[in-house]
Amino acid sequence: MQDIVIIGAGITGCFLAHDLSKYQLKITVFDKENDVANATTMANSAIIHAGHDPKEGTLKAVLNQRGARMYPQICHDLQVEYQICGAYVVAHDEDEIQILKDLKKRADERGIDARFVSSKELLAQEPNVADEIIQALEIPQTAVVNPWQCATALMEEAVLNGVHLKLGSEVIGIDAFDDYFIVHTDQGEIMTKVIINAAGCGCEKIAAMIEDPSFHITYKKGEYFVLSKLAKDFVHHVIYPVPSKLGKGVLAVPTTHGNILLGPNNTVCESEDVSTTQNGMDTVRERLAYIVKNVPYGEIIRSYSGIRPSGNQGDFYIQPSQTYDRLLHVACIDSPGLASAPAISEYVIQKMVQPLLPLQPKMSYVRRKAPIVMEHLSVEEKNRFIRQNPAYGQIICKCENISYQEIVDAIHGPCGAKTIKAVKKRVRAGMGKCQGGICESAVAKILAKELQIPLADVLYDAPGSELGTEAKRCKR
Ligand SMILES: Cc1cc2nc3c(=O)[nH]c(=O)nc-3n(C[C@H](O)[C@H](O)[C@H](O)COP(=O)(O)OP(=O)(O)OC[C@H]3O[C@@H](n4cnc5c(N)ncnc54)[C@H](O)[C@@H]3O)c2cc1C
Repeated sequence: MQDIVIIGAGITGCFLAHDLSKYQLKITVFDKENDVANATTMANSAIIHAGHDPKEGTLKAVLNQRGARMYPQICHDLQVEYQICGAYVVAHDEDEIQILKDLKKRADERGIDARFVSSKELLAQEPNVADEIIQALEIPQTAVVNPWQCATALMEEAVLNGVHLKLGSEVIGIDAFDDYFIVHTDQGEIMTKVIINAAGCGCEKIAAMIEDPSFHITYKKGEYFVLSKLAKDFVHHVIYPVPSKLGKGVLAVPTTHGNILLGPNNTVCESEDVSTTQNGMDTVRERLAYIVKNVPYGEIIRSYSGIRPSGNQGDFYIQPSQTYDRLLHVACIDSPGLASAPAISEYVIQKMVQPLLPLQPKMSYVRRKAPIVMEHLSVEEKNRFIRQNPAYGQIICKCENISYQEIVDAIHGPCGAKTIKAVKKRVRAGMGKCQGGICESAVAKILAKELQIPLADVLYDAPGSELGTEAKRCKR
């Protein structure tokens, strides 16, 4: 019998698993994907919004502010990337300046640093903003993270502290009994006292397995271009248009690795299909022209999209089920879900788990050992590692300078990579300008050797993407 089953290993489920692993609880996490952070957490703008935007009185407002304040310490403890880049919300006319004034008032009331800057000051900092901009609101504390690195690190620490992670396990049914549930997956079933439904776009389907859902999710797709590191000086801050009914709008965002993200649009869609569309990409280009000029489109190396699970109440839906108080819905976690995630976890544990289960802290807690990143080391340190193990000197990904041994380490980590994409998410092999053109086959061979499977069975991503046949490869 488990104390808690968490459904979903996105940033929400990973924070919950990590934070709950500090207590004497039996916990299992299920995810239908074969890696953590493989759904919405993988495809977003990666911004830790300061918390100036969500409407007063919403959970989003409370949890975004708190989450943004929690991130620096958490990222420091996990030894993952956190970069304060600052942001400008830009205005074109008097109506938009009024919106900036409202945002400034909200920021002041929330203790968030914000100040007006003239177009001249703005241009001095960001020469590529559009000429028509007449004023901006600077939010200096805005930061960016690497969402899947953060989620993986959280889950690694959770696993090191006893959490059972079951990837490739789709929850397909739930039966309720007096004081426990049976959770059915396509890989077997498990008994648990409490369920946390953190299934992102799947939350409503999970609820519908056992009750009439009290929330409704609409899928909203957001599409992006990624610029290569050669365009890293295009912008150094997040550039937001003023927010509208459609959300935060199409942005220009510097990433923790020196790439630039351009997007996202916001299109209601029927499924979780994350292919990009010509219409979507055209919309991104068109809206981008509103905030920036001189876009180096020649440096596009990739496009991608993510799906927002948007709730019908315009807010996160974080409540026990109305039928079963031991089924906890952490649903409708659209933006700013990433920025809010540590605070969502804290809120769920304090308000919803504590009344149900005794939370006895563990006597000891195992900290994760951060992986060796050769790129971050001094020449002396690099030489020391290479002398100990020459595979640290054998470069596989030439764009990002990733060595053979860093890939092996990623495969054998506590929440190890089992696919080419999982390697890419952990060490960035294939994230560079050639997008894996040079290193992908070498990465596949390393995976085959380390996982002791035939090369043809190596997966790019989900089952069906085996390298073995051309037809299957096309499904990537
Ligand atoms: C375009 C876009 C831009 C965004 N930008 C930002 C931003 O800049 N800042 C910010 O704060 N937020 C942003 N967000 C929101 C943020 O990405 C999400 O709020 C966050 O990633 C949600 O995480 P999650 O763990 O709740 O969901 P997910 O990451 O989707 O995780 C849910 C998991 O549940 C699993 N699952 C689903 N059904 C089942 C089942 N039946 N059985 C087992 N597993 C199941 C899925 O496989 C998935 O891994 C953005 C979102 C999008 C789409």
